[in-house]
Amino acid sequence: MPTTSTFLPTCASIDLSALTYNVTQFRGILRPGCDMMAVVKANAYGHGDIETTKALIRRGLSRVAVFSIDEGIALRQAGINAPIVVLGPLFPAQLGDLFAHQLTPVVSDVSILPALSQAASSFQTPYPVHLKIETGMGRLGVTAHDISTLFTDRNFPSTLHVEGLMTHLAEADGPAVEATQEQLNRFHDAITAVKAAGFRVPLIHAANSAGAVRFLDAQFSLVRPGIMLYGYHTLPDSVAVPHLKPVLSLRTTIAQLRTVQPGHKISYGGTFTAKRTTTIAVLPVGYADGISRRLSNRGSVLIHGQRAPIAGIVCMDMIMIDVTGITGVAVGDEAVLIGSQGDGRITADDIAQWTGTIPYEVLCAIGPRVPRQYLSA
Ligand SMILES: *Cc1c(COP(=O)(O)O)cnc(C)c1O
Repeated sequence: MPTTSTFLPTCASIDLSALTYNVTQFRGILRPGCDMMAVVKANAYGHGDIETTKALIRRGLSRVAVFSIDEGIALRQAGINAPIVVLGPLFPAQLGDLFAHQLTPVVSDVSILPALSQAASSFQTPYPVHLKIETGMGRLGVTAHDISTLFTDRNFPSTLHVEGLMTHLAEADGPAVEATQEQLNRFHDAITAVKAAGFRVPLIHAANSAGAVRFLDAQFSLVRPGIMLYGYHTLPDSVAVPHLKPVLSLRTTIAQLRTVQPGHKISYGGTFTAKRTTTIAVLPVGYADGISRRLSNRGSVLIHGQRAPIAGIVCMDMIMIDVTGITGVAVGDEAVLIGSQGDGRITADDIAQWTGTIPYEVLCAIGPRVPRQYLSA
């Protein structure tokens, strides 16, 4: 993101060497012939989609996936020429943009096929699409009945090329494995039906990060890792996961310090009352930057390597923290919301635990107002 000022009181640092470390670690669990399509949707889980994608391509990845046409266009406009698969739903009004930017759509509903195949008929060669099969996620995807109509009955449009067949696993990181095995069985049936109709599909993919690590037979020609490339996972402790490094850290700067007497209240609604003589630091980040309001009177930030609790309600642009007892704290000192400082460390997992969510949401929440700074690989 272009930034106009030279001093950044609040900044997310993206460690591209940690990103490439995670790529190497993840590659280590792939079986021969299985490649990675990195998922860089949602601004690369908050890490900045353009810089992240460029770093992944430099590291040898040959294709990426986004959610929306707009995300794909942003990558194209940044000069990224690699194949880009658009995982999200496709609307008829988006076909012009899809073709203009050479994006690869996922067809997850047969109702788009007439318009898509008609629009593709002006090209010399069939336009590549990935077909998504619903196998148990209960979200996007065509049914086994659709597959039979399209392939067994030979109704698949000749202006389109089935470059990929995919599904998405609903419980790859869950406590039990049976639901995933069921999904993989249904996916196998669909693959068999498409192949039996004489289609040779080069790219077959089912696994997100968790699926690829936990189910070797979910590794087809591609896997679609997102979260693990960014250094996190949500698999149960019983599953062996390659060592990963968090890529993002989030820092800000103490803007004001105030010592208040017992009984003094802090922030909207007066939900925090000082019980002793208390030193409060004001930090210029709030829920508009992705610091969840659920962290009000919960959770901590690092000051001088020590955890300082959040005092009172999280505001849109600011939070207050209790730094009583931490010596030598001054205006201008660094505060770490995610990352390491001295012997202290706070991860997106910690914040997810404090707020009752998953590290994905913590990372994606970091807003567009926060500048990203890239530490190169
Ligand atoms: C987001 C997403 C992924 C990546 O999942 P992770 O759990 O982050 O690895 C893969 N496939 C699809 C269809 C997705 O929507």
